[in-house]
Amino acid sequence: MITKESIENLKSHLDVVDILSQFIELKKSGANFKACCPFHGEETPSFVVSPAKQIYHCFGCGVGGDSIKFVMEYEKLSYPEALEKLASMSNVSLEHDSSYKKIDSSIITKVNEHYQKLLTHHEASQKYLNSRGISEFSIEKFEIGYASQSNDTINFLKTNFLNLADAQDFGIIDTGQNGLYSRFIERITFPIYTITGTVVGFGGRTISGHNAKYINSPQTKLFNKSRLLYGYNLAKETIYKQKTIIVTEGYLDVIMLHQAGFSNAVATLGTALTTEHLPLLKRGEPKVIVAYDGDKAGLNAAYKASLLLSHSKFQGGVVIFSDGQDPADMVNANKIDELNAMFSNTIPFIDFVIDSIIKKYDLENPQDKQSALQESNEYLKTLSPILQEEYSRLIARKLNVNSQLIQVQHFENQRTSNVTLSSIDISELSIIRTVLDYPELLKLVQKELSPDMFDVHKNEYNIMLDDISDPSLLGLLLNEHVIAYTKEELNNQLIMKLEPYYIKKIQETKNNETLSFREKSRITKPLQYKLREIKLKKLIIC
Ligand SMILES: [Zn+2]
Repeated sequence: MITKESIENLKSHLDVVDILSQFIELKKSGANFKACCPFHGEETPSFVVSPAKQIYHCFGCGVGGDSIKFVMEYEKLSYPEALEKLASMSNVSLEHDSSYKKIDSSIITKVNEHYQKLLTHHEASQKYLNSRGISEFSIEKFEIGYASQSNDTINFLKTNFLNLADAQDFGIIDTGQNGLYSRFIERITFPIYTITGTVVGFGGRTISGHNAKYINSPQTKLFNKSRLLYGYNLAKETIYKQKTIIVTEGYLDVIMLHQAGFSNAVATLGTALTTEHLPLLKRGEPKVIVAYDGDKAGLNAAYKASLLLSHSKFQGGVVIFSDGQDPADMVNANKIDELNAMFSNTIPFIDFVIDSIIKKYDLENPQDKQSALQESNEYLKTLSPILQEEYSRLIARKLNVNSQLIQVQHFENQRTSNVTLSSIDISELSIIRTVLDYPELLKLVQKELSPDMFDVHKNEYNIMLDDISDPSLLGLLLNEHVIAYTKEELNNQLIMKLEPYYIKKIQETKNNETLSFREKSRITKPLQYKLREIKLKKLIIC
């Protein structure tokens, strides 16, 4: 282990701007620096580096951290590896305590080769793979293997003089009450690779009827299952070329899809799709096809994935396999044309979310219908204004209500949200974010929006008006849903904020009994003029 003191010493020598600029091009922007994010493809920079706070943050994909985190992510290194790298970059020496030893990562590669050899002699596994339609070629391509008895793995490690502690670090073996045991016993093994082509773990399917049909390696220094996708190392070229990625739920789905020519298929490793997967999914900016089972768990996972991906502005949609079928079965049954048709007819993420929400309710029941409307509206609010407008019509059609109702509901929700809901308003933060990204808009926005038009983030807006490069804004905006608007979207957002504001002002003046009719009309006249302008959608920002 590297000693705490020497880590602290190293940290005191690190400057986030110095370090990051050795990997990416940084441009000065106020008190901060900006760059195009190296973790997700983009053309306008949303990656901000704050020398004052010694952190970076990407407003596009949500990554962020300090110099060490950056090197870990950028170079795909473990924490100690990143420390070593930074130490050599900064000419600082690290001290290790007595337990220090370098991990030999070739050990897991050797075990993988051993498992592959075992498979060639294991009839039951061969038979199983054969019954699922997996070809010899796929067995080799995916390096499918077989882990036999616990003792076999232990003996293999011992007779090859491999370090047992390292094997434990990699999750190959573990210590139990009766000593060392292998994690994979009587299982078909699927090695899991990083994007750069290193084996970091295994998936294993039981061949002897064990309760857990599939298991994965435990989380280790190198194996983070919520960041990796099975098959990505083999799929990446096709993903970049075809600009499409198919995300499935299983190892066999990936293997069989590749076998049928869909070599852009990957799978999550027994987990749901999470924000941690997004940087990998973003690579090459592909359209994402979520291909999940039609059972309850699959539908729920598809719903959550669609929420996540629509919030993060991914293109693509969902394919649901019903009647107990899965992609692997369909390839095995030679239904390739059918699969092709399914993949080219996906349900867009937003449609899928709205459908899933509405399906939960009995629309014959007025109370239920109201709830469906409310929940759809809540979701709609997280989308960009243009999408909100598009999809409000769809919701109105599906619920068979007047589309006006969706709009009205929307404003009502916005007004009450600061009272009843949380202390975050995405659209307000996004307005602030847009100005941070495009400081030239500051004067125009300031002219139209006074701080008292902000329901939730008045304070942040005031800070921004004071000093646009105030680093405290960086921390406030650590929210992956906060996006920079295009000029048109910003306009629409401003209109949505201004319209109810002026309506309210006019109404308040009219209701004010202390004012004479003359005074009232003197005050409301300019307000009404403004409101007319807004209603005509006269561009405020152009
Ligand atoms: Zn990013």
